[in-house]
Amino acid sequence: MIKLIKPYITFQEVEEDFKRIFESGTFTKGEYVNKFLQEIKTYLGVDHAFLTTSATTALTMCLKSLGIGLGDEVIVSDFSFPATVNVVEDIGAMPIFADVDQDTFNMKSEELERKITQKTKAVIFVDAFGNPSGISKIKGICEEHQIPLIEDAACAIGSSENGVNVGKIADLTCFSFHPRKLLTTGEGGVITTNKKEIAEIMSVKLNHGAIVRDGMADFINYGYNYRLSELQAAMGIKQLNKLESIVKSRNSIADEYKKRLHLLGFKRQNSLDNVIHNIQSLVFMVPEGMNRDHLIAYLTENGIESTIGTYCLSNTTYYKNKYNSVQPIAKYLEKNTVTLPCYDNVDHKYISNIIEKYVRTLED
Ligand SMILES: *Cc1c(COP(=O)(O)O)cnc(C)c1O
Repeated sequence: MIKLIKPYITFQEVEEDFKRIFESGTFTKGEYVNKFLQEIKTYLGVDHAFLTTSATTALTMCLKSLGIGLGDEVIVSDFSFPATVNVVEDIGAMPIFADVDQDTFNMKSEELERKITQKTKAVIFVDAFGNPSGISKIKGICEEHQIPLIEDAACAIGSSENGVNVGKIADLTCFSFHPRKLLTTGEGGVITTNKKEIAEIMSVKLNHGAIVRDGMADFINYGYNYRLSELQAAMGIKQLNKLESIVKSRNSIADEYKKRLHLLGFKRQNSLDNVIHNIQSLVFMVPEGMNRDHLIAYLTENGIESTIGTYCLSNTTYYKNKYNSVQPIAKYLEKNTVTLPCYDNVDHKYISNIIEKYVRTLED
């Protein structure tokens, strides 16, 4: 079976570090966590970074640190993994679904402008499959309306727009280190921001509500523990150093696929000219009239793992029943996109051949 994903980390790479951690007995809040944080800040060029247990907890922390809650509205990109909207629902705010662009799969700026109200307290823009296309434009609109912009960059480590790294564009950016993403610590995430005031709140909230004065904890607020461990940080450090070459390699594989599949009527997720897209997932829109689920089944029969693109949030059972606000483009993409295997040495020629064979079966 050709797998959909393959992690960019081996046991050999972390073996020495894991030994050191076990020998030291320091499993949390030690040198690896500090080093990982420092390297993330340097790599992205941001002032503040906070490690978390996941992108989901990271997003929740952003909303909480902004004081968002009951009665507030948060506008979210509608084509994403449900965590994007679950965090809004969880804190009692009302999610407002913004439809996406059918080429980039990202929030449309006209949609955002149309949906801003007096109650809008934040916008969550999703870099669909790591593609940040349009984030700068969305940021401009948010600034004009003085609404904080949170970037769900769960998939987007290593991506940029206009030469600016994802992580320093939005007011708050959340990355994931889940194994489906380019950099994995098993589970994990990080929040980055250049906003000092938010960072101050965040650091208290993420330390059980405490500030430390003269070595003594003073619990000035209530808070949480969403920390990453030393072992996880050691894994993260190793991959951060390789990120640039990973992104380059994924892009060249994606281009090879595109050459073949565009001839067959497939359309790859597009990114704007000034964008570096890390290709966290390689996603194509299937030709009009093709049954995407049949294609996935055919690929499985031929030993190739593939999957859907992602979800139309407003069309999931819970949110459809509660808000009845299904967005048409996101709904179309949910039904008509496919994710293909993309990593070093993947046999993209074989996979493209099988897809071509499938297209020919439809012609008979
Ligand atoms: C993976 C993903 C998440 C959730 O990340 P976790 O680290 O698993 O919580 C959120 N949003 C998007 C867009 C994702 O792809």
